[in-house]
Amino acid sequence: MTTPADPYLLTPGPLTTAASTKEAMLRDWGSWDADFREMTARLRRGLLDIAGDTNGEYDCVPLQGSGSYCVEAMLGSFVPRDGHALVLANGAYGKRMATTLRYLGRRHTVHDTGDYLPPRAADVERILIANADITHVVVVHCETSSGILNPIEEIAEITQRLGRRLLIDSMSAFGAIPLDVRTLPCDAFVSSANKCIEGVPGFGFVIAKKDVLRDAKGNSHSLALDIHDQWDVMNRTGQWRFTPPTHAVAAFIEALRLHTLEGGQPARLARYARNRDVLVAGMGSLGFEPLLTEPWRSPIIVTFFSPADPAFSFERFYELMKAQGFIIYPGKLTTVESFRIGCIGALDESVMRRVIEACGNALSTLGVANAAPAPASLGAREALAA
Ligand SMILES: *Cc1c(COP(=O)(O)O)cnc(C)c1O
Repeated sequence: MTTPADPYLLTPGPLTTAASTKEAMLRDWGSWDADFREMTARLRRGLLDIAGDTNGEYDCVPLQGSGSYCVEAMLGSFVPRDGHALVLANGAYGKRMATTLRYLGRRHTVHDTGDYLPPRAADVERILIANADITHVVVVHCETSSGILNPIEEIAEITQRLGRRLLIDSMSAFGAIPLDVRTLPCDAFVSSANKCIEGVPGFGFVIAKKDVLRDAKGNSHSLALDIHDQWDVMNRTGQWRFTPPTHAVAAFIEALRLHTLEGGQPARLARYARNRDVLVAGMGSLGFEPLLTEPWRSPIIVTFFSPADPAFSFERFYELMKAQGFIIYPGKLTTVESFRIGCIGALDESVMRRVIEACGNALSTLGVANAAPAPASLGAREALAA
């Protein structure tokens, strides 16, 4: 899938893409040209199909920039200026949404469950009942900082039951983890090109109810991030308002084709889950312990505790892995030392077996005989199991 000179990116985006996805970028497109407008239409339709929008209740609005631009566009366009958002945070991306709301001057309340505990419906219910003026609930689907898969189904159910609106950051989940708008009540969610669809970076997209898009007129603080305006212009002209990331769109069309060819979301989930299972088992044989217990451990990215052995250094481990063709990811936990290995991208279990072998080699070079974490670190896991 890659040449030996290209390391595998075991990171949650940008990630390793297929050769044909890269090759799709080897020509230029005029942004106003009918061929490119056709590509934009195909991209929007393809994403709505993955979201299960069979009755045309939702629409898809692609937007230039990285995923965070889309999150900011969604929050600024859909939370009205007199709205009040409840942010469910359990990691860096939840916290970033709270920061974004602060920049936007939108009233918000944060329910923070720490590094590795999921938000639960009972807590959300209690907060919503106590705060009748909360209009929106904002949640991260897979919180990529720990790899936890948040229970968005129960969050969606309680949010709807109490008459509030749900906005989801499904950046690192959509395309692999089920998110079907026929069964999951939400106003909108966002994802981006370079996560589970396996495209290259350059844009993200908002999938939202058409009536929510219509009602968003005038809400946004920003012209460039106004989802209503992007939607309106795109529907009238078939074009992006400002220079589109033409090559990234071309690559994405090929990535979508490969997603369908593989068998869509269920097949992608199966491959990523297999990657995770081979990874966790293999790392376990070296002594490594994952942070999260099942069923919270996502097939997107796995956090491992750093070994307690003082001979272990993440910086040296990283370099030794890179020298063998694998780029891994530092940890993002506040309390314990950790690192992460991604399971997504154009790679399969045979690559994961080579990752394990490379980890074993790196540990030998470092002189770490057993990668077990400090027993105290495991307390985190016990709290999760409780
Ligand atoms: C990748 C990611 C984002 C967006 O990050 P960018 O660096 O702006 O692309 C947002 N939320 C989650 C959960 C992510 O995994």
